[in-house]
Amino acid sequence: MNVHDSERISGLLEGAGYTPSDGGQPDLVVFNTCAVRENADNKLYGNLGLLAPVKEKRPGMQIAVGGCLAQKDRDTILRKAPWVDAVFGTHNIGSLPALLERARHNAKAELEILESLDVFPSTLPTKRDSVYSGWVSISVGCNNTCTFCIVPSLRGKERDRRPGEILAEIRALVEDGAIEVTLLGQNVNSYGVEFGDRGAFAKLLRACGDIEGLERVRFTSPHPAAFTDDVTEAMAETPNVMPQLHMPLQSGSDKVLKDMRRSYRSKKFLGILDRVRERMPHAAISTDIIVGFPGETEEDFAATLDVVERARFATAFTFQYSKRPGTPAAELADQLPKAVVQERYERLTALQDRIAAEENAKQVGTTVEVMVTAASGRKSGETGRLSGRARDQRLVHFSVPDGAPVPRPGDLVTVPVTAAAAFHLISDPAGPADYSLRRSRAGEAWDRSQAESCGVPAGPAGARTGVSLGMPALPPRS
Ligand code: SF4
Repeated sequence: MNVHDSERISGLLEGAGYTPSDGGQPDLVVFNTCAVRENADNKLYGNLGLLAPVKEKRPGMQIAVGGCLAQKDRDTILRKAPWVDAVFGTHNIGSLPALLERARHNAKAELEILESLDVFPSTLPTKRDSVYSGWVSISVGCNNTCTFCIVPSLRGKERDRRPGEILAEIRALVEDGAIEVTLLGQNVNSYGVEFGDRGAFAKLLRACGDIEGLERVRFTSPHPAAFTDDVTEAMAETPNVMPQLHMPLQSGSDKVLKDMRRSYRSKKFLGILDRVRERMPHAAISTDIIVGFPGETEEDFAATLDVVERARFATAFTFQYSKRPGTPAAELADQLPKAVVQERYERLTALQDRIAAEENAKQVGTTVEVMVTAASGRKSGETGRLSGRARDQRLVHFSVPDGAPVPRPGDLVTVPVTAAAAFHLISDPAGPADYSLRRSRAGEAWDRSQAESCGVPAGPAGARTGVSLGMPALPPRS
């Protein structure tokens, strides 16, 4: 969500006439902050401290701070860093250009934080990081009250976008060249509750299946408590919805889940995985797990290890619990010593790394379709391999056989998996016969974006591919 907001901020600023810095001294620095991880505030104030002398030597330079930490800390930011020019929250990123203008005109800092959403972020222009793949918000905010989580207090109650607006944005993205979208919401399974249709998310997935040119649909994040079979069916029966599911577990202990105020239990969680795999045997399932929640006993932790063993996750994002001031869990008495949390964390990651390596090893000998990405692996300089994502979102590093055509980011290659590690697959095709390339509209969009960045006029229509206008908002239905 935060990354997508940053795309909106870039789009807004470019629309207001700013251009990206070429690496020299910028006239404007914007921090889009996150408050989910520990130490976000220390990092922010550290960075602001580093910028203070830079700004002093550069009259007219502006600094803005937005996002979750700004929503939380508000005027504290201006008290601790009075050289900041503008502070804006999660609900009003659209105000940023005006705040910068006012700060410049009045020669004083501007602070604007709203308590609820001003306009749905998708109505704002966007500078997308990728031309072949895009985020599409279906809702913002969350109605749940997980005791460790700061999101509801910073992002507010869930607001759902109308399906017609979402589909229009997806079609616009596809027309611009994207072939992949990721539907985005704090809890996609409760999508539609606001406008009275509990089956709305499954219907939305099926409607994505009718969009010509859209090849890959993903979504994040579902919630096990609200995940229903109609969504599994829609995933299985809609060919462009990818066989991939990110299903946050958080803990395998029912007692800890109760303390976290997450209303599913481990049996239900594993049951969802069974049904998904029954309908999509090759689905790759990933998760989030928090280790060391207050009061977690060794027995509770063993229950998490047990669920991880049985769930066979392809990937897991593992976190050590840390207090978020303002959340109920931060007030719980039984906070665990760091050493205990660290030791459990290491056991969990060792187990999950083993499982991920075993699951990836099963892919060796299969053939995967990979959408090529612009970023290659760390070792690409030595290996010459390019990188991309398989349909199930596994990371694949592949080599292009001598004499075979080289793909562009956004193109699709079909290649054999020849080796595997815990976090990626390797494909070294034996020769051109083992490798096939499908040039895609997304690859063409990539070419156009590269030509534009070199100052060459854009493709046939001459359209700018970098920034897309915001979607027109429909008036709310009464
Ligand atoms: S579902 Fe829970 S963890 Fe996820 S955003 Fe909502 S409150 Fe936070």
